[in-house]
Amino acid sequence: MTLPAATILGYPRIGRDRDLKRALEQHWRGAIDDAAFHERAHEIRVADARRLVDLGLVGDAAVPGEWAHYDHVLDAAITLGAVPPRLRDVVPAGPVSLAHEWLLARGEGDVPPLEMTKWLDSNYHYLVPELDAASTFALQDRRIVERFAAVRDAGVVTRPSIVGPATLLTLATGGGVRPIELVDRLVPAYRALAEALAEAGAPWLQIDEPALVGDWGHVSRAEVEAAVRAGLEAVRGTGVRILLAVPNGDASGRVEALAPLADAVAVDLVRGSVPAIGGTVVAGVVGGRNVWRTDLDAALETLRGIDAHVVVGTSTSLLHVPHDVDRETTLSDELRSWLAFADQKVAEVVTLASALSGADESAALGRARDALAARRVAPGVADGVVRDRVAAASAGDAERVAYDERVAAQADIVLPALPTTTIGSFPQTGDIRRARAAHARGELDDAGYRAAMEAEIRDVVALQERLGLDVLVHGEPERNDMVQYFAESLDGFAATAHGWVQSYGSRCTRPSILWGDVARPAPITVPWTAYAQSLTAKPVKGMLTGPVTILAWSFVRDDQPLADTAAQVAFALRDEVTDLEAAGTRIVQVDEPALRELLPLEEHRRADYLDWSVRAFRIATGGAAPGTQVHTHLCYSEFGSIIDAIDGLDADVTSIEAARSRMEIVDDIAGHGYPRGIGPGVWDIHSPRVPGADELDELLATATAGIPAGRLWVNPDCGLKTRGYAETEASLERLVAAAERARERI
Ligand code: GLN
Ligand code: ZN
Repeated sequence: MTLPAATILGYPRIGRDRDLKRALEQHWRGAIDDAAFHERAHEIRVADARRLVDLGLVGDAAVPGEWAHYDHVLDAAITLGAVPPRLRDVVPAGPVSLAHEWLLARGEGDVPPLEMTKWLDSNYHYLVPELDAASTFALQDRRIVERFAAVRDAGVVTRPSIVGPATLLTLATGGGVRPIELVDRLVPAYRALAEALAEAGAPWLQIDEPALVGDWGHVSRAEVEAAVRAGLEAVRGTGVRILLAVPNGDASGRVEALAPLADAVAVDLVRGSVPAIGGTVVAGVVGGRNVWRTDLDAALETLRGIDAHVVVGTSTSLLHVPHDVDRETTLSDELRSWLAFADQKVAEVVTLASALSGADESAALGRARDALAARRVAPGVADGVVRDRVAAASAGDAERVAYDERVAAQADIVLPALPTTTIGSFPQTGDIRRARAAHARGELDDAGYRAAMEAEIRDVVALQERLGLDVLVHGEPERNDMVQYFAESLDGFAATAHGWVQSYGSRCTRPSILWGDVARPAPITVPWTAYAQSLTAKPVKGMLTGPVTILAWSFVRDDQPLADTAAQVAFALRDEVTDLEAAGTRIVQVDEPALRELLPLEEHRRADYLDWSVRAFRIATGGAAPGTQVHTHLCYSEFGSIIDAIDGLDADVTSIEAARSRMEIVDDIAGHGYPRGIGPGVWDIHSPRVPGADELDELLATATAGIPAGRLWVNPDCGLKTRGYAETEASLERLVAAAERARERI
């Protein structure tokens, strides 16, 4: 049996109305029991499967079946019995209960959850499987088989999918073993899954191996390829056909030798080119990572050029896009006509398959062509003033005077050794959220809203003075989200009403859509920062989100290079820096927590990315006077691999996450000879735990041993907006006291 003519690699699983999110949170609260949760999850699966059939994914195995409750990597680990060694006594072999699944995903009491990190080069977070030399694997949990059977009984024969062995092991951590070395032990469990699926009547199994398109420092290309091969060899001959999916990058040159081991291969033709393989190719011409309507003419041409049996598909799972653009009643009709969310992308795939088979789809193709043509010339898509400015950018725009000169010019910012500061946000209280919601509903007028935010700023400034922090912040109460807040104030962005995408577990975000040229019609942050500065003699840091992070956490236009869009955002921020300076701000922080997230999986694309992303940051900050102290903040602790790029940002001070890794980055910094100010975080703000005085002393001792005292800052790991005031006050009090003790030691 061959695959139907149209398919997708995956569909959002959170539910059209975030139904799964609600079910998860109700179960966590104890508001619904296990049976009710399972029933709700089943209903969501059936509703989504039927909807995909209605949208045109007809024929057995056209509808993908990936239905994790929390995370698809966790689901694979659970299915294959890859329980963390530290929990072997807690989570018994066999099917994993909901309680144990949440223990793995969220932790409880003394049991920390699996570590969470970004999935490939996306803003989705997966749970990192923990393995060790004693790890064994088997088909322990039959959830994938059971879900297949239940949805089939409801009328839809789906194509179950699972993360493949190469990808699972590449993304896992190992205690005392390199996980990839466990591949021979792992693949029989995949075979058992394939056998069980065959027995349940599943015609196809999709094995996702995005690891194939990446270059991984810790695993060689040969090892990845060998693991994919071992997996494919293990699952052959069970009666279930195998779709090897290679999304998220260019599979050509990497998949040719493996293709004969699978019954079909899915490739990403948005990022990559067509590999020279025969057999059945699922041609991913409809992008799964963006929200733009596909150029159907171009896609059809690509499809017609493929010398194989072609199934039309998406480049990746549609996990990263919202459900349905037709629900967006607040977007302009014009913008809406340029967009395709998951359901529209399914329709595109179906139209292309139909056109490829020779049916007359000229009406649909014509509509797509018209929308694209209209988009090209629509007002705002190209703004001459913005373009001229970017085109005229000179090397000098990205260049400040030498660091030594800046240090001299900043000497009048009076600070003690080891200055203390925070990363920007203070707890977002219920009062803040209520005021924002009331303002959005029109129940609180502008003056009332401003008064509420100013009251909050007064409290936050007073608290910081009381605690004895050296560089203060205004606390960011006015920001719902560090990217959306800027998007709402810049030209070229639009906000959706229902455009939710899963970030992790039940957490969803609603990325803004960057559709046009970006300009700043008016100052954004200046009034809040200036107000905070008016309340204190201590310096208040201005707080901006950097160009790369604004891009990474939005849906960005696909009609010009990212580098150009980044430069536009950078110039808008540059003007904000100038206005902050004019209002008396001496310290400006430009956050780039997503700098590493967009780093391409393929080695050969990285230099170019780092080049334009670093340049964008430097344009944003390059207009700052020598006497203005520029800070940046990065949200991860893997400093080593991109330390040259971080150095290249040329910020006067960089704060970075470090507490969880016990200051590992200090060695990287010392080894590199990083020449400017650095604040390795000493308080892990990701949990409500208040760090002990001894612990802080120890972390600071490590820091002072590796970093010259004149360059060391003392700060938490990240912003405090998800924390409560109780632990915030207690922790900051200890942080300030620890800095004072450290000053006496140096
Ligand atoms: N300034 C932001 C805050 O403090 C930075 C957040 C982040 O790095 N993600 O919340
Ligand atoms: Zn951070």
